[in-house]
Amino acid sequence: MSALPRIRARKSFSEVVGRTLHRGQLGIVQINVGKLCNQACLHCHVAAGPKRTEIMRSQTVDRSIDPLKGAKGQVHTVDLTGGAPEMMPDFRRLVLAARALNIKVIDRCNLTVLHLAGQEDTAKFLAENGVEVVASLPCYSKTNVEQQRGKGVFGESISALQQLNLLGYGRPGTGLVLNLVYNPGGPSLPPAQSGLERDYKERLQEDFGVVFNHLFTITNMPIARFRTDLERSDQLENYMQLLLDNYNPATVDGVMCLDQISISWDGRLFDCDFNQMLEIRAPFKARTVFELDSFDALSGQRVAVADHCFGCTAGAGSSCGGTLD
Ligand code: SF4
Ligand code: SF4
Repeated sequence: MSALPRIRARKSFSEVVGRTLHRGQLGIVQINVGKLCNQACLHCHVAAGPKRTEIMRSQTVDRSIDPLKGAKGQVHTVDLTGGAPEMMPDFRRLVLAARALNIKVIDRCNLTVLHLAGQEDTAKFLAENGVEVVASLPCYSKTNVEQQRGKGVFGESISALQQLNLLGYGRPGTGLVLNLVYNPGGPSLPPAQSGLERDYKERLQEDFGVVFNHLFTITNMPIARFRTDLERSDQLENYMQLLLDNYNPATVDGVMCLDQISISWDGRLFDCDFNQMLEIRAPFKARTVFELDSFDALSGQRVAVADHCFGCTAGAGSSCGGTLD
């Protein structure tokens, strides 16, 4: 991955923030189980797709779970992402192991995966084990969704949401949480999260009878496939300038690397999923889960930042859980 281009008369992220970022208490372990996905979306920061072969093996799954057992209960959430996490052969074993330790599990689900052969009972499995589902749906209109995510994706996503609703997801009193994720269709910042959530709720309920808990708006990161797209259309520098111009210091104390770490499909440790994709090493003594006895050792460590971090601090801020300020 090449370095981000210099932008005229601008400062680096470190200079703008003016201090070193340190992780506090580690609470969330995000595991990117691999790059295999049934989709190949335009803005995917993982560059995932059906032909990718990188996928977490059983031994790495075991070694990602073991340090949780020694973590004195401070890690409260395991956040599974990919690719399509459900396509990893050990997906269910990983979920069950974390749930057996009373740790919350989040499945970052692309929805269409629930229609694949062999995945017919995945939604039921998620419900039975109280897994929180965070599902990508970058718009409530077919045209916008299919521009980003491919032909046929909208209808399949809606029917997957209806299936999740039937199991109790997104419905009051069930404890089954269903959150949706919006990201802009191009090089702009997301609109206000609360207003867009109202629009989504209205449209999805009226048009399809779909209900959900919250909408997370996420800023597109200038890396991987989205970056290539920006480069092709000669918009990368303008987009970086947009992120920099909208730097919001109030978001810095909420960036997700301050309470989470990221594990790659092959067991390497990173400060976040974006740093993982850019191969920016975390300054941990342990490089992989194979060298780690407990996640406790990763609390309090310095975070490795670079200019893509402006994607987390622009406007209302951005994280896997939506806005930050
Ligand atoms: S954005 Fe999600 S669904 Fe789309 S290719 Fe990437 S991992 Fe797959
Ligand atoms: S990109 Fe990663 S390291 Fe940079 S601020 Fe965001 S979460 Fe932290």
